[in-house]
Amino acid sequence: MDQNTTATLLELAAKSLLSSEPAVMHALEEIPRDLFVLLFSTAFLGGHKKILKAMVRVWPFHCLHLGSLKAQVSYYDILEAMIDGLPIPPAQNSSSRGHKLRILDLRHNSNCKTTCSHVRITFPFCLQSCISPQHAVLNLENTQPHARCLGIGNSRSEVEPAQETMELLVDISFNNTLRTQQFITFLCNKVEQSSGFLHLCCRDLQINRMFANKRILQILDLGCIDHLEMDQAYLSEIITLFSGMIHLYSLSLSNIPFRSFLIWLGQLENLQELRLSFFYLKDQLHKLLRVLPPCMDTLCLSFCGLSIRDVTFLSQSSQATHLRVLNLNNNQIFSEAYEPFQVLLEKVSGTVQHLEINNCMMTDSILSAIIPTLNQCIHLRVFNFAFNPITMPVLKSLLQHLTSLPRLRHVIYPVPAHCYQEQNFHYSLNRQKLAKVQAQVKAMLHMLHQDHVKWATYSE
Ligand SMILES: [Zn+2]
Ligand SMILES: [Zn+2]
Repeated sequence: MDQNTTATLLELAAKSLLSSEPAVMHALEEIPRDLFVLLFSTAFLGGHKKILKAMVRVWPFHCLHLGSLKAQVSYYDILEAMIDGLPIPPAQNSSSRGHKLRILDLRHNSNCKTTCSHVRITFPFCLQSCISPQHAVLNLENTQPHARCLGIGNSRSEVEPAQETMELLVDISFNNTLRTQQFITFLCNKVEQSSGFLHLCCRDLQINRMFANKRILQILDLGCIDHLEMDQAYLSEIITLFSGMIHLYSLSLSNIPFRSFLIWLGQLENLQELRLSFFYLKDQLHKLLRVLPPCMDTLCLSFCGLSIRDVTFLSQSSQATHLRVLNLNNNQIFSEAYEPFQVLLEKVSGTVQHLEINNCMMTDSILSAIIPTLNQCIHLRVFNFAFNPITMPVLKSLLQHLTSLPRLRHVIYPVPAHCYQEQNFHYSLNRQKLAKVQAQVKAMLHMLHQDHVKWATYSE
């Protein structure tokens, strides 16, 4: 008989066994270990809740992972039946095999087999065990969360659980369905009944609206969470939790109400740097500035949809006179008028060291108009104004004027307009023309004794 035939025969045997639930329940402890895993998968897929509960109770291995198994119907009913099978409080060897199960893993994980015992049979071992030292029942030493997920880690010659506990691994996704709420309440009750025996280990927490599941947040060990996803949550309500999430390496926030964001931001009294990108702020920057500490050091607002009005507010803010780094890249702040930016530049001129206005629709006339103010920025070290439609004469003029800035070391300038040529409605860069521009810039810098200042384009 080949292996496939044997597998099919075993599957048939498992299915026929399950046709008589009472008989299986009766014979469960006599079923060979090899058939146990197959019988479990078959019972799971068939939704045999009673049998699953009984199998968990006498599970002959140290861990049980759902892995890639997916229930077709009554998903929560099946999970609850399995959790009900856990001996809480711990049974005193009620089964003839003794109670071996220490990790019940109810997460979907396609890389995970039903039990790890086949990997190492000499000692209790589970790749998925909790990383928290106080909860881990079958852990690997020095295994980081990434290593754990990839299923790699150092083996340990002898593992003895420090105390009689059990891990229940569940990914929790709060949504507002009644059944989810019931399941979470069920989990809370089980954990509370177990008086510390059951460690509810949640690594992936999804909060879709903050429907006051405060009870479970109190039960969860935040140190176990490595993925957090929040949609439409009130940031201010859960921000206090972040400090406990020491293993968090993936954070996804969406639809966080602007007001919540502001309230949270307003609590960060020591904030020195704020870097936002693709955060739409059009005509709202004043609300943000109002909650930020007045002596901020760094403000980067790339792709924030800033308007002239926003630039005006920024120029009038208390932050403006303190900023050392200002990045307004990728906002059309010069599309209507340049004066508000000029006022802003005057305000930051006493402190700014790093200024970026890439891709802001700045033209020759605007650049020419702001050169005198730019010259007042005596601390300026880095000036980046790439991707603006500037021509060679204005570029040369700028280069001459900026020689008066003693600390300037790095300038990133736009490729002048004449270096682009139109071909079939596409603009392509003429590398020869650009090389000529670069040579001219270099020669001018040398002539002006400015070799220590690096002028470059993004195409270099
Ligand atoms: Zn395992
Ligand atoms: Zn844990």
